[in-house]
Amino acid sequence: EDVSGDSIRRRFLDFYASRGHKVLPSASLVPEDPTVLLTIAGMLQFKPVFLGKVPREVPCATTAQRCIRTNDLENVGRTARHHTFFEMLGNFSFGDYFKREAIRWAWELSTVEFGLPADRVWVSIYQDDDEAFEIWKNEVGVPVERIKRMGEADNFWTSGPTGPCGPCSELYYDFYPERGTGDDVDLGDDSRFIEFYNLVFMQYNKTEEGLLEPLKQKNIDTGLGLERIAQILQKVPNNYETDLIYPIIAKVLELANISYDSADEKAKTSLKVIADHMRAVVYLISDGVVPSNIGRGYVVRRLIRRAVRKGKSLGIDGDGKGSLKGAFLPTVAEKVIEMSAYIDSDVKQKSPRILEEIRQEELHFKKTLERGEKLLDQKLLDALSTSDKTPCISGKDAFILYDTYGFPVEITAEVAEERGVSIDMDGFEVEMENQRRQSQAAHNVVKLTVEDGDDITRDIDDTEFLGYDSLSARAVVKS
Ligand code: ATP
Ligand code: MG
Ligand code: MG
Ligand code: MG
Repeated sequence: EDVSGDSIRRRFLDFYASRGHKVLPSASLVPEDPTVLLTIAGMLQFKPVFLGKVPREVPCATTAQRCIRTNDLENVGRTARHHTFFEMLGNFSFGDYFKREAIRWAWELSTVEFGLPADRVWVSIYQDDDEAFEIWKNEVGVPVERIKRMGEADNFWTSGPTGPCGPCSELYYDFYPERGTGDDVDLGDDSRFIEFYNLVFMQYNKTEEGLLEPLKQKNIDTGLGLERIAQILQKVPNNYETDLIYPIIAKVLELANISYDSADEKAKTSLKVIADHMRAVVYLISDGVVPSNIGRGYVVRRLIRRAVRKGKSLGIDGDGKGSLKGAFLPTVAEKVIEMSAYIDSDVKQKSPRILEEIRQEELHFKKTLERGEKLLDQKLLDALSTSDKTPCISGKDAFILYDTYGFPVEITAEVAEERGVSIDMDGFEVEMENQRRQSQAAHNVVKLTVEDGDDITRDIDDTEFLGYDSLSARAVVKS
């Protein structure tokens, strides 16, 4: 049986196509919805249909949607299951079928099409969704001990502060069924479970005032993480070792001249971060986002810069192939592009521009790094030579590094943390605030929250990178 990522994607789409769904292409990572920064889920392109603002073209559809979630940035490489870039497989009903069919098909897909053993699949439901409980228990036959009622944080899905939303039911895979059942079993325990499929019973619109208005029709919105189901079916320990991502890691290993098996945990994290971030960067640039200092462009810039530093920590010099002046990320990106056919068929044709953007940003940042690193080193030594038990870099110094040397504060923090030094973030904020007040520049910040209430632009706003040479570059950026 073929369990390659490409075949899993195909089988998902075929499964729903043969149940009356129209197969539609992935939408861009840059949503049409002006209130949203980036495409975080498959439902975004259908938001106006769910809200009843545009008539449906088909009763139900299925997609493989490329997604970006910057709220998971810190999780990349730390958990086995989070990426900034991933593909969400989805089936959608626009006032057509509802809970019963969505649940039964999700079960059939998981246990028959993908062949997961029924006793390894657990489900969660929204605390008072008795209807979902009845369907899982009586129609599907899931034993009650593997149905967990959960609260709003996990089982009430909203795409943002306002908009279509509803209770959801999720499917989890159990890696250790021998650990048994019981009230104390926690589906959030990621040493045992992985959430792979979320079924949202989209029947409300959340208004500005926070009220839940019933929608005209009841909809279905689902998301199944391709890399996660691939991890399960390919029986590998994490998403990164699936055929969807590992070839990119292999390319980085080659450039670093090391082997995966001999890499320690820190090096493995670096490998995963580079592979993840380069996927995100390639698809973001393909969808028209280029590195800059604000909004989406800052996301790309930050991802590239983080990847550059991780490359350095793996000992990759220059282009990794002998030229100390070159850039290595374009070589990694080439691999991503080679694997892009079913994710975004336009990428190959745009490849020269994508590679050039990445090359320039990498080389630019490396110069910045060289200049700032001396100062940062000095500040770290100063901090470590105090008798302070918790050595710390002042907000003012972090601000100078940021403002004059172009060190994004999260990079300063990351370097410092490696040496056991912290950053006075409150002090840094004060400096930022002063500068903001002085410059009176308009802030181009697009708001986006995901279901757990994480404001992904909070991060971006706090660390907005204003330029290499504080005065000249800022004038350009802000004009
Ligand atoms: P988690 O609790 O693991 O963070 P989630 O509840 O935030 O996931 P949903 O918003 O329910 O995720 O998205 C639907 C599906 O998309 C998830 O069940 C998962 O399979 C996949 N998914 C979500 N976030 C990521 C991510 N950062 N990387 C890879 N897959 C993801
Ligand atoms: Mg999440
Ligand atoms: Mg979850
Ligand atoms: Mg979920």
